Amino acid sequence: MNELLRIENLHVSAGGRELLHGVDLTVRTGEAHVIMGVNGAGKSTLLHAVMGNPAYTVTEGRIYFNGEDITDLSVDKRARLGIFLSFQSPISVAGISVENFIRTAKTAVSGQQQRLFPFKRLLKTRMEALDMDPSYASRYLNEGFSGGERKKNEILQMRVLDPKLAMLDETDSGLDVDAVRTVAKNISEFHNEGNALLLITHLNQLIRYIRPDHVHILIGGRIVKEGGPELADEVEANGFDAYRNAAGEA
Ligand code: ADP
Ligand code: MG
Repeated sequence: MNELLRIENLHVSAGGRELLHGVDLTVRTGEAHVIMGVNGAGKSTLLHAVMGNPAYTVTEGRIYFNGEDITDLSVDKRARLGIFLSFQSPISVAGISVENFIRTAKTAVSGQQQRLFPFKRLLKTRMEALDMDPSYASRYLNEGFSGGERKKNEILQMRVLDPKLAMLDETDSGLDVDAVRTVAKNISEFHNEGNALLLITHLNQLIRYIRPDHVHILIGGRIVKEGGPELADEVEANGFDAYRNAAGEA
C-alpha cells in the first residue's frame, strides 16, 4: 500500500489562536482512518487544513499528498489531486441545482467536460443507491433540504467525484438509523484498494459498518492515542475522560 497522505508536525492557527499543536498522521491507499475526540478538539480544523481552507493557517509542519508537498496549494488544486472534504454543516446555494453543481465540480476536478446524458445517468444511479428521490437533482443545492438530505448530498458528491482521499466530517450525525445504514453502505462501496477514507465520527453506528484500520484520538489539538478498531469500542464504552486527562498533562 502506498502512502497517500502524510501530515508532519502540523501546527494550525485560526482567529489568532493555535488550534493544532503538532499533528502527525499518515494514511495509505486502501486504508480507513477514524478521528475521534471531544467537541472543540480540532478535528474539523485538521480536515480543513488538509483541504486548504484559507481560514486556517499552517504555521509549522508540512502536508504531503502522493509524495508532493501540498502545504501551500489552493483548495481547487488539491481537489484536482483527488482530495475531497464533506462539510460538517453543508451550506445551501440559491440558484444552482444539485445536478449543475455536481456536474460543474466534476468538470473542474477531472479537467474533462461532462457530457450531459452520461452524466445524468451516472447521477441517477448514484442517487438511487442513496435512496434519494430523483427530484432532488433539479432542486437548488441544499435549499430546504433536511439535515439528513444535506448529508446524503455530500455522499452523492463524493461518489460522483470519486476522490483518492475522502474526508467526511460527521456525515453520520443527524441521520436516522436507516439513513446511516444507506450512507455507510455507499461509503463502503466507494472504498477500495485505490483510495482512502479519513472519517470524523462520534458514533459507533457508522464504525459498525465501516471497520477502520486506524483510530486516532484528538484532544486539545493533539493526537493523544492511536490504535486499531478496538480503540473505537473502548471509547464508546468509557468515553474520553482518560484521554482528556492525558491531554491536560501534556
Ligand atoms: P471539532 O471539530 O473537534 O469539534 P473544531 O476543529 O471545529 O473542533 O474547532 C476547534 C477549536 O477551534 C474550537 O475551539 C473552535 O471554536 C475553534 N475554531 C475552529 N475554527 C475556527 C475559525 N475559523 N476561527 C477561529 N476559531 C476557530
Ligand atoms: Mg467538527
